[in-house]
Amino acid sequence: MVAMIERAGGPAVRIPASKMLIDGQWCDAADGRTIPVFDPATEEKIADIAAAGAADVDRAVQAAHRTFESALWQKMRPLDRGRLLEKLTLLIERNAEELARLETLDNGKPYTVSRNIDMKFTVDALRYYGGWSSKMAGEYIQLSPLFDDGGTYRAYTERKPVGVVGGITPWNFPLGQAIQKIAPAIAFGCTIVLKPSEEASLTTLRLGELILEAGIPEGAINIVTGYGHEAGQALVDHPLVRKIAFTGSTATGQRILESSSRQMKRVTLELGGKSPTIVLADADLDKAIPGAANAIFHNSGQVCTAGSRLLIEASVFNEVTKGVARIARELKLGNGFDPLVQLGPLISARQMDRVASLVASGVEEGAEPLCGGERDGSKGYFYRPTVLAGGRPDMRIAREEVFGPVVLAMPINDVRQIKSLANDTEFGLGASIWTRNIDQAHLLASQIDCGTVWINTHNVLDVAMPFGGTKLSGLGREFGTEAIHAYSEPRTVCMRLEATDFG
Ligand code: NAD
Repeated sequence: MVAMIERAGGPAVRIPASKMLIDGQWCDAADGRTIPVFDPATEEKIADIAAAGAADVDRAVQAAHRTFESALWQKMRPLDRGRLLEKLTLLIERNAEELARLETLDNGKPYTVSRNIDMKFTVDALRYYGGWSSKMAGEYIQLSPLFDDGGTYRAYTERKPVGVVGGITPWNFPLGQAIQKIAPAIAFGCTIVLKPSEEASLTTLRLGELILEAGIPEGAINIVTGYGHEAGQALVDHPLVRKIAFTGSTATGQRILESSSRQMKRVTLELGGKSPTIVLADADLDKAIPGAANAIFHNSGQVCTAGSRLLIEASVFNEVTKGVARIARELKLGNGFDPLVQLGPLISARQMDRVASLVASGVEEGAEPLCGGERDGSKGYFYRPTVLAGGRPDMRIAREEVFGPVVLAMPINDVRQIKSLANDTEFGLGASIWTRNIDQAHLLASQIDCGTVWINTHNVLDVAMPFGGTKLSGLGREFGTEAIHAYSEPRTVCMRLEATDFG
C-alpha cells in the first residue's frame, strides 16, 4: 500500500516503500527489521525504513562489485556514464517539488530551503560531474633515466576508478549529500553502495526510484538503509569496498578511519566544525550583522560550516551582538510547510537535548544569553535561535560542535589576537572575515587553518569549489577537480624505447 501524508501548500507527500535498492531490485532487510521515521516538526510517525544488517550490506557490495567488474561497466564509454547522470539530473529536475516536499517532511527544513537550496545544489552537482565523466585524463612524463642502457624511456599515467565506493551520509542535507557521493563515483567509473542517515533516508530512497527510471545499470548504485553501528560499520569493514566517502561527525569519522586502516581503504572524511565568523570594526555592519546571523541560523544551525563562534572587534561588539540577537528574535520558527516559516525543527529529540545541554553549560560557565536559550513549544523539536555573549575560548560551548542555532560571541580586544582566537579550536572547516579592508582580509584568509575561508559572505558552497577540512574537520577534499583524486588513482606506465636514429 502506498502511504500518502497530507501537508499544507501542495499535493500529499508520497512515502517511498520501506525497502532497499540492491542490484536493481527493491528488497526488505534479510531479517525483516525496520526503523521508525518521525516528522521532526510534529513528532508523528510517518514511515518505516529497512534496518540493514551485515548480510544485506554484503549483498549490496557483491552487486556493486559484480557490476564494477562487468564488461558492460568496464567498456561503457565515459560519455555514456555522463549521459546516464544527465538523465538522472533531468528526472530530479522534473520531480524537484515532490522531492523538496519529501525532504521537508523527513528533515523539517522549510520547503523554500528544500526547493531553492537543496534541490538546486543536487541538480548542479549531478550536472557538474556528468560533464566531468569524459574529462578524466592522465599525464605524460619526461624521464631522466638513472643509467644509459642504449634505450630511451617514456612514461605516462592513466587514472583508474578506485572500485566499489561505500558512501555514508548524515541528515542535514540528505539528498544533496547522497548526490555528493554518487555523482563523482559514477562519473569516474566506480560503483557505489550508499547508506543514508537513519534519521533522514526518504529522499535517498525516492532517488533510488529515479535511478531505476534513468536506466542506470543494476548494481551500479545501491542504497542500503540502517543504523550506523550495523549497516554503516559493515560497509566500512567489507573487504570489497575500496573507498569510503563519509560525511558526518568527527567521532564517527575517527572510528571509520581506524577501521579502514586495516584494509588500507581510501577514505575521504567530511566532519564537524566550530567555524569562526570574524567581524572587524571597519566592516559594513548592515551586511555583516545579517551575514553573521545567517552564518549560524541557516538550516537551524545544522550545518557543518555554521559560524558558531562570533569573534567581534571590541569597539563594535555590542552593536553586532544586539543586531544578531534582534534578527534571531524575529526569525519565524515552525512547520516547514508554512510558507512564512524561516527555521524548522532540529532533527530529533536527542539533538534538541544535546543543544539544550550545551547552552546550559555555556550559561553555567558565565555566558550571557541575549535571546533564545530554550525549546520553542512542546511539540516538535524546535529550539529558539540563541545568542550567547561574554564567551571565552576555554568554555565547553566554545570548543564543542553544537549543531544547532546557537552562537557564542567573543570580543577581539586586540587585533593581534585574531589569528590565534580563530585558530584556537581542534576543528578547521570554515571561517568568514567581514571587513572593508580587502588587503587585510586576504592576509587573514591565508593565516586561518581551515578548508574554506569566505570574505564578506559565509556558507557559500559551490560544487566547483574544493571542500573539506583540516585538523579534526576531516581528511581529503570533495567537489571540484579534487574529487578526481578521491575517486580514482593514477597508474604509472613506463616503457623503454629502442629505435634507429634515421637522422
Ligand atoms: P553521525 O556521524 O552520527 O552519522 C553520520 C552517518 O554515519 C550516518 O549515516 C550514520 O548512520 C553513520 N554511522 C554512524 N556510526 C557509524 C559507524 N560506526 N560506521 C559507519 N557509519 C556510521 O553524524 P550525524 O549526526 O548524522 O551528522 C551530523 C555531523 O555531520 C556533524 O558533526 C556535522 O558537522 C557533520 N557534517 C559534516 C559535513 C562536512 O561536509 N564536513 C557536512 C554535513 C555534516
